[in-house]
Amino acid sequence: MKKHNFSAGPSILPKEVLEDASKSVLELDNIGLSLIEISHRSKEFISIMEEATARVLKITELQNKGYKAIFVQGGASLQFLMTAYNLLETKAAYINTGTWSVKAIKEAKLLGSVLEISSSQDKNYNYIPEMNNIPNDIDYLHITTNNTIFGTQYKSFPDCSPPLIADMSSDIFSRKIDFSKFDLFYAGAQKNMGPAGVTLVVIKESLLNKVSRKIPTMLNYSSYIKADSMLNTPPVFAVYTTLLNLRWIESQGGINKLEKRNLKKAELLYAEIDRNSFFNGFAEVKDRSHMNVTFTLNNENLSDDFNKIWENNNISGIKGHRSVGGYRASIYNALPIESINVLINCMQQFEKLNK
Ligand SMILES: *Cc1c(COP(=O)(O)O)cnc(C)c1O
Repeated sequence: MKKHNFSAGPSILPKEVLEDASKSVLELDNIGLSLIEISHRSKEFISIMEEATARVLKITELQNKGYKAIFVQGGASLQFLMTAYNLLETKAAYINTGTWSVKAIKEAKLLGSVLEISSSQDKNYNYIPEMNNIPNDIDYLHITTNNTIFGTQYKSFPDCSPPLIADMSSDIFSRKIDFSKFDLFYAGAQKNMGPAGVTLVVIKESLLNKVSRKIPTMLNYSSYIKADSMLNTPPVFAVYTTLLNLRWIESQGGINKLEKRNLKKAELLYAEIDRNSFFNGFAEVKDRSHMNVTFTLNNENLSDDFNKIWENNNISGIKGHRSVGGYRASIYNALPIESINVLINCMQQFEKLNK
């Protein structure tokens, strides 16, 4: 029996996507060959890549606005370096909202000066800090829209005149936002988009070719754009499965519909965390993530009891990250509302047991 999968990443994908992806491994669309044994230069794969990038621009409403979508390997972690390599000439500003921002800052420091203009480190990153003083003389401002580990999420974005760039790995395509506010955003596929092995980068083309350093080919956004993401062999399975998921998003009514569903799921779960006196929400209420719900037990000594209950109820992947402790329920697009109800039921069983 399929488990209720609350894993933070790699994470749940829609059943239909997994079914079609597995079929393609045996045979792609009746062509007599497997997806993973054909050339990436074949017309079949070229059309997969074209459809995937076109769908990204369509879903984000960025068609004909000077943006390009590319697929790159190396995970979101390589984007910490690539963004700086391609865009950081002298100085960039970063907002530090936790582990992933810290890693992005570390890579950028290799290439220029980095201003950490605000941070929520003082409270173990349980909130999104204010951003009042965004300097104008920076090459860009970098934020992390959803903080997967701590369970915080931006609800609105800074208006800033320098280019705004964002790591959207764990909330891409989960809600309707004005993507044109961003000059560049990236997302490792394995949180809310597809299998591990591919990273989506969407870039406003006018941003590129401004830095004076020489950029190695495999780190250069312009070369990916020129080669339609096929500088070398792309991760064909990850790209194809991502395409299946992009089609699924459309079949569900697009990100507007998914946002409504995601909001409902998050509200149900947070309402139980707030009602049930055995649990505490980790993130500040105003900044709570609708993708990663972090919470702790009031009495850690009872954790074996609670763990037994959710394990017996076929739940998987809700252990919290070691830097927060407690629990983290990741409730990405593909997680059905039934799974939320099962988790809530476990929390109520635990309450009854200990009252
Ligand atoms: C998971 C995650 C990363 C790291 O992704 P990789 O693809 O493993 O490099 C970066 N940023 C955020 C917000 C993440 O959730």
